Amino acid sequence: MYGKQLFGRKHSLSGASAPIIVWFREDLRLSDNPALHAAVQQDCPVLCVYIHADGCEGTRPLGGASLWWLDKSLRALSEDLEQLGGRLTIRAGDGSACLDELIEETGAKAVYWNRRYGKAERDIDAAIKSRLKDRDIDVQSFNGRLLVEPWVLKTGSGGFYKVFTPFWKALRDCYSPPAALPRPSSVKGPQPDTLKVSDLGLHPTKPDWSTGFDAVWTPGEAGAHARLKDFLEGPVDTYPDDRDLPGKEDGTSGLSPHLRFGEIGPAQIWRATIAAMEAENIQDAGGWKFLSEVAWREFSYVLLYYRPDLADENYNDDFNHMPWRTDKDALKSWQSGQTGYPIVDAGMRQLWETGWMHNRVRMIVASFLTKHLLLHWRHGEDWFWDTLVDADPASNPASWQWTAGSGADATPYFRVFNPITQGQKFDADGAYVRRWCPELAKLPDKVLHEPWAADDATLNRAGVKLGTDYPHPLVAHKAGRERALEAYETLKSQR
Ligand code: FAD
Repeated sequence: MYGKQLFGRKHSLSGASAPIIVWFREDLRLSDNPALHAAVQQDCPVLCVYIHADGCEGTRPLGGASLWWLDKSLRALSEDLEQLGGRLTIRAGDGSACLDELIEETGAKAVYWNRRYGKAERDIDAAIKSRLKDRDIDVQSFNGRLLVEPWVLKTGSGGFYKVFTPFWKALRDCYSPPAALPRPSSVKGPQPDTLKVSDLGLHPTKPDWSTGFDAVWTPGEAGAHARLKDFLEGPVDTYPDDRDLPGKEDGTSGLSPHLRFGEIGPAQIWRATIAAMEAENIQDAGGWKFLSEVAWREFSYVLLYYRPDLADENYNDDFNHMPWRTDKDALKSWQSGQTGYPIVDAGMRQLWETGWMHNRVRMIVASFLTKHLLLHWRHGEDWFWDTLVDADPASNPASWQWTAGSGADATPYFRVFNPITQGQKFDADGAYVRRWCPELAKLPDKVLHEPWAADDATLNRAGVKLGTDYPHPLVAHKAGRERALEAYETLKSQR
């Protein structure tokens, strides 16, 4: 597909004019980008490169929604670079081989990148670094993705943090962001042959199920900063309460996919939030609560770093004996938002339509899958990986394991979210369910979260025929809960 012969032309340069390659990966931004900043400071040509190596060398292939985001984000980065007189050079295939070609074609003397934290990615980067260094190519790597890299904060006994609250306390006490790095005023360098973003075929086709995404998202650095600005100008003050209300527009920042692709860095969020608190533009309670949630992402990266198999294996291996069920039909009903529990179905439909789901509802649907349906958390993690625009290699498996009970600092397995009372408490006016399950819109609040409890007259008035317009529950709450607890009991006897 990406013919190698395309890239035969040479633009070799040497000595002071030899370029530095900046290898963009999960850091698709120009401001506060340490690798780019360091290269631009060197006063020599800079070659900005993206290599589409999806799924190469043991890395996890991106899901469909992430590919949709990547497509738009690369376009935005390309345009931003063009405005600075530069260009994003795009190649596809094995990262190491593509870098070799670019070094050969341009005479580059150095390669700079921001670090990644998954095991396969770390191994790839370490091998490339050692090979290039042997050839006298200068390789430098930076932290462009985290407030604090996973190996920095240690517990009193020298281990990594396995519990969030002391981790957050340690982070809050010690962290002070480095000075912000400016967006370069110009990025110029050689322009070897390049693929176009469209050549990568990232946008879904046959079918294009992403049509609802455009209305919600503006991928790219400008979109990320617009979100942060809007959030800090208002919603952050009510965030401590509103963050749990899925029906509330802008109750949370919506920054997760921007962070996932590095269009904004957490240090930028930290600085802006602290500055807004210091200027008394926002209240401390909201500002700190928001930063503490950003710290959950950091905590997830600690777990991924020390447990690289986080997406595959139970963090707590007691769960290796969990008698998970196999039930393809139930899994399909969950994926398609047809479980018969309105808050669960609303969440799964929001996910499909927009590539995102509210955090409170993520917890409810994950609990429902792993407890009421007794299906392995990996099925849910996989589905989220494919359908979330913010699907993150650390936060997704860590959060799934947290909800399922098998993770670090996890919610205990015996705590089974009740999808009826969760709906009644966090979507009391039904705005969220009515939006995503329009067939239930005319039901009164009293029965909206348990339509089967409505009498015939109420159902008739609302135009709902259970089993036809909306499914009966896949499993009764009480029976599902009891089955989950019985399964959990069997773990105790295996210890
Ligand atoms: P805000 O509330 O505005 O929070 C700001 C930022 O903090 C987020 O953008 C995110 O980067 C971080 N954050 C907030 N909550 C968490 C959390 N619990 N864990 C880790 N980081 C957090 N988040 C992802 O970014 N990618 C995932 O793949 C992902 N999968 C999840 C799966 C499950 C089962 C659950 C329960 C949660 C998952 N989360 C994931 C965490 C959380 O739901 C999202 O980060 C949040 O909903 C994103 O919306 P926001 O940007 O408006 O968040």
